[in-house]
Amino acid sequence: MKKFVFFYAFVLALLVFTVVFYTNKLDKESIGKDNVQNIYKENIIEQNGKLTTLKVKEVKDRIKLKISSTGQIKELETSEYIKGVLPAEMPPEYHIEALKAQAIVARTYLYKKMNSNAHKDADICDNPAHCQAWYSLDRLYDIWKRSKGYTEEECNMYFAKVEQAVDSTKDIVVTYGGKYINAYFHACSGDKTEDVSAIWGKQNIPYLKSVESKGEEGYKNYTSKVKLTVSDLQTKLNKSSTTKCSINKDNEEIVEILSYTNSGRIDKVKIGGVVYKAEELRTLLGLRSTNFTVNKEGEKVIFNVKGNGHGVGMSQVGADYYAKIGYTYIGIIKHYYTGVDVTKIYVEGDTKENEI
Ligand SMILES: [Zn+2]
Repeated sequence: MKKFVFFYAFVLALLVFTVVFYTNKLDKESIGKDNVQNIYKENIIEQNGKLTTLKVKEVKDRIKLKISSTGQIKELETSEYIKGVLPAEMPPEYHIEALKAQAIVARTYLYKKMNSNAHKDADICDNPAHCQAWYSLDRLYDIWKRSKGYTEEECNMYFAKVEQAVDSTKDIVVTYGGKYINAYFHACSGDKTEDVSAIWGKQNIPYLKSVESKGEEGYKNYTSKVKLTVSDLQTKLNKSSTTKCSINKDNEEIVEILSYTNSGRIDKVKIGGVVYKAEELRTLLGLRSTNFTVNKEGEKVIFNVKGNGHGVGMSQVGADYYAKIGYTYIGIIKHYYTGVDVTKIYVEGDTKENEI
């Protein structure tokens, strides 16, 4: 009899232990998942941060724009101007928070340019090589219809999105130490942005540091290739460079990589006895970025390129990715420009100060 009591007691104990063990395990698993989600959400909220305010002498509601093809000076509302810049710089299909970030970048560029007195007779011009690109509504719709095949209705829908991005960020700019920043941006970084000093010499701008840029791999032009025969390569290099290179086509390592930048892009290469800065090579050969590897296949030299653009400041595809995972425009800007403030400017006596 005693044996049976012990046996039942043992089975019961085993049962209780098993139930307790599994309940505990399940609890831990579910708590674990929640924790991960919470930490993730908290990180995003922390990243997003807050707006600051800055009192300035004047917030211009109207500006003078120089149309570079005709020399005509066009006076228009500041917001109308930004609405013509934003779609010239970023695809309207991008997430609204990415479009807001780009609108703020365009506005910051405008104010910085206005302060520099780049034009005597205007505040800014529409030449992207000198100031920043700007499209009139007619030109924009024409481009969208031709290049994207959009109908009038679709154009209206996307332009409404552009207007929303600009109007909802009115008077918001990016500042560092109370001054407008150099808000550089590019199409796609190829996973990591570039430190400004690696591209444009000895400049040390604290907010233009190399940062991680996630989620870019699904976008157009994330990778690209340039294939050239050895003689084409030599012709292109010698076309505008003062020092002429002489390539031995039998050499296996035609492009010798001499150094890398901190972000992993190419810094300098040696081709046919001549040393080139990667940025110079990018222009001469039409490479999308300085983030590349090189291999030789038969008679051809192949440049395998990652990313699109100089890589400094905000990555536009990265901005779209971060927006899609929950970053606001503030979070996006603070991610790409280290230590900056996203700032609403106002003049004394303006009620805008109290709206935040
Ligand atoms: Zn200009």
